[in-house]
Amino acid sequence: MAQKPVLISGAGLASLLLAQSLRRAAIPFLLFERDSSLSFRSQGYRLRLSSEGLDAIESVLGPKDFQTFWDTCSKTGGGGFASLDANTGLILSEAPKDTKAEEAKPKVLKEDLSSRDGKIVGISRGDMRKLFMAGCEPFIHWAHHVTGYELTASGVHAIFADGSKSVEGQMLVGGEGIYSKVAKQLSQGKLKVYDTGARGIHGQAPTTAFKELGEGVWRLTDDSNPAGRVFAITNVRPEHMDDPSLQFGWTMGAQPGVIRPKNDDYSMIGAPAAEIAKSLTANWHPRIRRPFEEMIESEAAFWKITCSTPSGVPEWPNEPRVTVIGDAVHSMTPAGGIGANTAVSDSALLGRLISEAGGCKDGVTAAYEKEMRVYGSEAVKTSYGLATGQFGIVIDENTPTV
Ligand SMILES: Cc1cc2nc3c(=O)[nH]c(=O)nc-3n(C[C@H](O)[C@H](O)[C@H](O)COP(=O)(O)OP(=O)(O)OC[C@H]3O[C@@H](n4cnc5c(N)ncnc54)[C@H](O)[C@@H]3O)c2cc1C
Repeated sequence: MAQKPVLISGAGLASLLLAQSLRRAAIPFLLFERDSSLSFRSQGYRLRLSSEGLDAIESVLGPKDFQTFWDTCSKTGGGGFASLDANTGLILSEAPKDTKAEEAKPKVLKEDLSSRDGKIVGISRGDMRKLFMAGCEPFIHWAHHVTGYELTASGVHAIFADGSKSVEGQMLVGGEGIYSKVAKQLSQGKLKVYDTGARGIHGQAPTTAFKELGEGVWRLTDDSNPAGRVFAITNVRPEHMDDPSLQFGWTMGAQPGVIRPKNDDYSMIGAPAAEIAKSLTANWHPRIRRPFEEMIESEAAFWKITCSTPSGVPEWPNEPRVTVIGDAVHSMTPAGGIGANTAVSDSALLGRLISEAGGCKDGVTAAYEKEMRVYGSEAVKTSYGLATGQFGIVIDENTPTV
């Protein structure tokens, strides 16, 4: 008898990699994505892939498709962040260390960002999504907004915003990101995502605007703004630096209250985000300012810094037919660049467990959640700890949830 499909909410990074894993094991699946198409909205920023993230992706894609994935990734030299004072253009992490005063200062831990081949491996979110989608297209239902689920005697239905239901599935995996309703229903409200109050902007500029920065992953820090620290991160690759038709991206963030979209409407794209990014960088060193001055305004977009409960992924009574992956279960701040890496680890783990069991058998979601809670909690704690130090984010009992 034909198996019922595994229902997956969202067609983001975690959901699509899980779908790839099921496709390879010939387990039927259906994805339900809120957006009406892949190009519905800007796909944003470049993700840094850790060794764990790359291992997870390779374990799902297998040698041939992983090679295609690997060839699409950029590989930047330099090993870690090079931190620049945005106003002076001077390197912060290379301050002279030969005086007594310098020795007495607390040591800045160099954040090693390299993974395979000692390089910093990156890929744009859009490319990653496209590659993960290959072969899964016929099973994606676009413009389907999942608002919850309903268990049946031997399966589950996803419920949509218009009140309709999906076909009956053997299980449901909630992979619909930080606003996941599946996560809320499953955990009975225990899975919480906090709005840290901090906002960011990401944008693009012609590669030529990055030439004076040179190859490396640069963290630009501005402590001169009375409202709070502003920082930006950009990954400047050696290739294409003379071709103005190609673009590199940058991501900017700030302490809570510094970046304030009108009416806190951070879904606005283009001019409103571009104007704020330009005004915040107007006094930056000319060498560093160019990627902001020369940005492609229509590409600028806000983003919101959220974080799950900093103490880690909470316990909830296991439901054998429903579970959650990715940001839906562990949202992280951008500090540490580990959100997507943890999300793809979930997909690889859950996909393997479902495939080995030949479908949704008793114990699969419990085994997945037990293992995921360990590394997921660790990742959230690390990211929160780094964000507290780097941009003053604090979550307490008064912090609003999303
Ligand atoms: C600026 C920025 C930089 C980052 N840099 C890094 C980095 O360098 N390294 C790293 O590891 N991580 C990084 N992250 C984090 C990373 O992007 C996320 O952790 C990752 O995208 C999570 O994947 P996901 O599939 O769980 O969620 P998403 O990628 O958010 O996918 C969720 C999908 O569900 C859809 N959806 C939402 N609601 C519904 C609904 N109700 N019904 C149906 N579909 C729905 C959405 O449209 C989306 O397609 C960064 C994040 C930001 C914002």
